[in-house]
Amino acid sequence: MAKPIAYSVKAYATNGAASPLALASINRREPQANDVRIQILYCGVCHSDLHFARNEWGFTQYPAVPGHEIIGRVTAVGSSVRKFRKGDLVGVGCLVDSCQTCPDCQAGLEQYCRDMTMTYGSPDKHLGGFTFGGYAQGIVVREEFVLRVPANLNPAATAPLLCAGITTYSPLRRWKVCRGQTVGVVGLGGLGHMGVKFAHAFGAHVVLFTTSPGKAADAKRLGASEVVVSSDAAQMATQTGRFDFILNTVSVPLDLNTYVGLLKRDGNLVAVGAPGTPMQISAMPMIMRRRSFSGSLIGGLPETQEMLDFCGQHAITADVETIRMDQINEAYERMLRSDVKYRFVIDLASLA
Ligand code: NAP
Ligand code: ZN
Repeated sequence: MAKPIAYSVKAYATNGAASPLALASINRREPQANDVRIQILYCGVCHSDLHFARNEWGFTQYPAVPGHEIIGRVTAVGSSVRKFRKGDLVGVGCLVDSCQTCPDCQAGLEQYCRDMTMTYGSPDKHLGGFTFGGYAQGIVVREEFVLRVPANLNPAATAPLLCAGITTYSPLRRWKVCRGQTVGVVGLGGLGHMGVKFAHAFGAHVVLFTTSPGKAADAKRLGASEVVVSSDAAQMATQTGRFDFILNTVSVPLDLNTYVGLLKRDGNLVAVGAPGTPMQISAMPMIMRRRSFSGSLIGGLPETQEMLDFCGQHAITADVETIRMDQINEAYERMLRSDVKYRFVIDLASLA
């Protein structure tokens, strides 16, 4: 297949695990028949961007452009695009393509397709090389992977819904979190603060586990009924066996067995936090109370649209701190110090 014609946009890229992100020029394809060309307005800063930029998962190809919480304006559409028009406000998350035919895609779970293309770091089927993410002025995405954004939501605060939002919404829905349940959320960062908001919106009694006692008041404002400082053994000892569901959003390895012990019989501990190093889990506490441990990856396209529509109906967005593109390296350092309330969002106008 001949490579489509490309055009260049400004972006922020890194050339190695120890290199800072810096201004670069990257290519995007001219829209094909089923493509949407998007001018990026805002892009959230996910901890996955940092893991990826610094090759903490071991598969990063350089140059690398992170960013998968994209809100933008449609500037052109291909000849067969029906869902979008020039001028629409749209979102793009962690996926930009998949095979569309396998059982995962047929089930609307494109994130588990073996042939899915991630927004950044996947082989680029059109231009060769690897896909570049949303720390850029523009992007071109296949129509099926573009999402509608509710008009009543603030665009900057909506960007983090495209990853932090769906990654917490999806497991809470799958494990049917609802009123009458006690739900733990571990870590109050980008994912954790959305997990607290959604679990509260679904009616659960929410308990936040944090290493930052200073976040307690925010956690309660966001929807937690209780806050437990996880480094305080006495506080942790009072939590044994009371949880139906616990969502671990932490970006570093944790002692998972501590959290397994907090589950009721048949309770579930679900990992969304994705540190690059393994964690140990003991079988006996799982066996004795028929507890489960699972993982969950973002969410498929239908569920991501459902989540955005839910947020539109309930006026739910992320709590964000907007930054300029040239503040990204400093933002990464602050994220590592858990000093973000509760998601950085890049204003791409700063790249013009
Ligand atoms: P983040 O904003 O940096 O939040 C992580 C939180 O973890 C921090 O705010 C902090 O909360 C807690 N934490 C940090 N260091 C800790 C430590 N040493 N011990 C205990 N807790 C600590 O990160 P994020 O963007 O929410 O992402 C979190 C993780 O989810 C990352 O690993 C990311 O790659 C992963 N992720 C997974 C998916 C998926 O599909 N599964 C999608 C997106 C992201 P407190 O201050 O409250 O303790
Ligand atoms: Zn993410």
